[in-house]
Amino acid sequence: MRIDILTLFPSIFHNLLNTSILKIAQQKNLVDIRVSNIRNFTYDKHRTTDDCPYGGGDGMLLKPEPVFRAVESIWSPPEITPQLILLSPQGETFTQKTALELKEQAHLIMICGHYEGFDERIRLGLCPREISIGDYVLTGGEIPSMVILDAVIRLIPGVLGGENSTVDESFNEGTLEYPQYTRPPIWRSMEVPDVLRSGNHKKIEEWQKQESLHRTKERRPDLIDKLV
Ligand code: SAM
Repeated sequence: MRIDILTLFPSIFHNLLNTSILKIAQQKNLVDIRVSNIRNFTYDKHRTTDDCPYGGGDGMLLKPEPVFRAVESIWSPPEITPQLILLSPQGETFTQKTALELKEQAHLIMICGHYEGFDERIRLGLCPREISIGDYVLTGGEIPSMVILDAVIRLIPGVLGGENSTVDESFNEGTLEYPQYTRPPIWRSMEVPDVLRSGNHKKIEEWQKQESLHRTKERRPDLIDKLV
């Protein structure tokens, strides 16, 4: 899988891409991540990437020309169309289901807005999938793109160690994950449930299913309503 990120602030990505699982995924060639600076696609003397909105209003908008040029430098027909993603608080809300869908794509291009947002022609001309990471407004699309990057990459087969690491976890079955414990068996009078130390796999599985349902009912009853 290839993922391109278009941003005005490429350095923000350095630590994320050079740490832990995302670093290993790249070292194993499971994902090819490229971060490009939108400013490199400006040709005027001042390398202008943003400008005031027509009609007035606070803040600056990302100009269409450098964004279109940046996208076109990465992809041109007849190459297979990548999935273009525009990070926007006005987009569809990102969920685990979205991450699973994006994982199936061969190539993602994520466009990070900044300042007051985008010139509308970026939406109209590039027809991206607009994605929001939640109902709040951040300074830029960099953090949202990192959220998507992380959620998608960990789903690529071979990225995480255990085969079931991404199966046995919250949201995959429509429920939250059951509680988990590690050593020591007793810590400050809190004991690991006996069943988890019993070695009886059938019983452990039953307990995990029951606890997963219980936890979901308690914390996210809206998910229970969606279970088929
Ligand atoms: N004026 C815009 C509006 O009201 O919709 C908000 C612009 S925001 C300050 C600047 C940029 O941050 C956006 O263009 C987008 O790329 C990114 N951004 C902010 N909040 C976001 C969110 N919840 N999800 C995804 N991207 C977000």
